[in-house]
Amino acid sequence: MRQQRTVQANLFDLFAGHEIGRELNTMSQWLDEHRDLLGLVARDLSRCAVKATGRQGLPAEAVLRCALLKQYRQLSYQELAFHLEDSASFRAFARLPWSWSPQKSVLQKTISAIRSETWEEINRTLLANARQAKLEDGRATMFLADMKNSGITVERALDSLDTCFPGGHGVVRFENLRVPASDILGETGQGFRYAQVRLSPARLTHCMRWLGAARRAHDVAVDYARERHAFGKKIGEHEGIGFMLADNEMDLHTARLSIWHCAWLLDQGQGLGRHASSVAKVISSEAIWRVVDRCVQILGGQGVTHEKIVARIFADVRSFRIYDGPSEVHRWSIARHILSSNTH
Ligand SMILES: Cc1cc2nc3c(=O)[nH]c(=O)nc-3n(C[C@H](O)[C@H](O)[C@H](O)COP(=O)(O)OP(=O)(O)OC[C@H]3O[C@@H](n4cnc5c(N)ncnc54)[C@H](O)[C@@H]3O)c2cc1C
Repeated sequence: MRQQRTVQANLFDLFAGHEIGRELNTMSQWLDEHRDLLGLVARDLSRCAVKATGRQGLPAEAVLRCALLKQYRQLSYQELAFHLEDSASFRAFARLPWSWSPQKSVLQKTISAIRSETWEEINRTLLANARQAKLEDGRATMFLADMKNSGITVERALDSLDTCFPGGHGVVRFENLRVPASDILGETGQGFRYAQVRLSPARLTHCMRWLGAARRAHDVAVDYARERHAFGKKIGEHEGIGFMLADNEMDLHTARLSIWHCAWLLDQGQGLGRHASSVAKVISSEAIWRVVDRCVQILGGQGVTHEKIVARIFADVRSFRIYDGPSEVHRWSIARHILSSNTH
């Protein structure tokens, strides 16, 4: 029968001053309180007929602990084998029998025998425990992760209407991505709070970028309206085109002022500018869309070909009414602000 546990002296006291040592100690105590998980791992190992004893086998407890070390430190099997040989705290945590260090092949064979259902149970128990200890309350946390991590897969690039973002928009899958504490940005559970701080300035950079694109389209349309003759005069002198140019001028001006106003509010350092940035976003995205649409109209046939940059800008700016919150959602948020505010 497989030996489930190896009784070993606690070496953690030696590493109590080190952050990783402390974390390993906490995790070790947690594992001692959840011995039921060992039964699941032992069942997986016997199901895969992995040797239970000798130099090819490991007790279920050592397998589980090595697997968690691998997950926690994001190690390859080779790195895990090295650390188990090299680090006393890793060895103490892993509770390896007879003080020997398992080879990479043994680790690979035993750890990969743990089924995904078992991992799910382990991680569910870990999470429940973290919630109980108030380490995790379900709120968002910001973190950095290396794109080389096997838990991140870029599945494909979306075939989208816009073409202005280098590399396009990727569909990214996160699966079993483990984030060590050192990769957390700021504090756990504060992700939304941090996101709110950058939200308004980031939104304004979208507004500014698209305003610049609309201005460029307008310049192209103005040049065309000055040069192109139809029915005896420059098309810009026909009221139908002239009025479109005038409307463009007014829309560009309104969009620019709303952006400046929000930027000015942010400069005052009063609040996060969420309301003003929603207002600027809706005004700009809708005005910019109208401007570029008129430019296409003014350019006639050339407006819908790639002879001019305007067709591309037209395709690019359409998504601005969707990205970073669609107009409807911003209007909903603006309305909520109006209803709850004392100033109206
Ligand atoms: C190519 C691409 C790139 C993107 N890049 C980013 C990015 O870099 N960062 C980022 O944060 N997001 C990004 N997004 C997400 C984008 O911001 C969302 O698509 C957008 O906010 C709309 O959300 P949704 O697609 O879930 O639409 P849905 O929420 O499904 O909305 C569909 C429609 O319903 C309307 N609607 C929804 N709720 C309400 C309501 N309460 N009242 C009235 N109407 C409502 C919407 O206005 C919209 O017209 C990207 C999306 C795409 C397609």
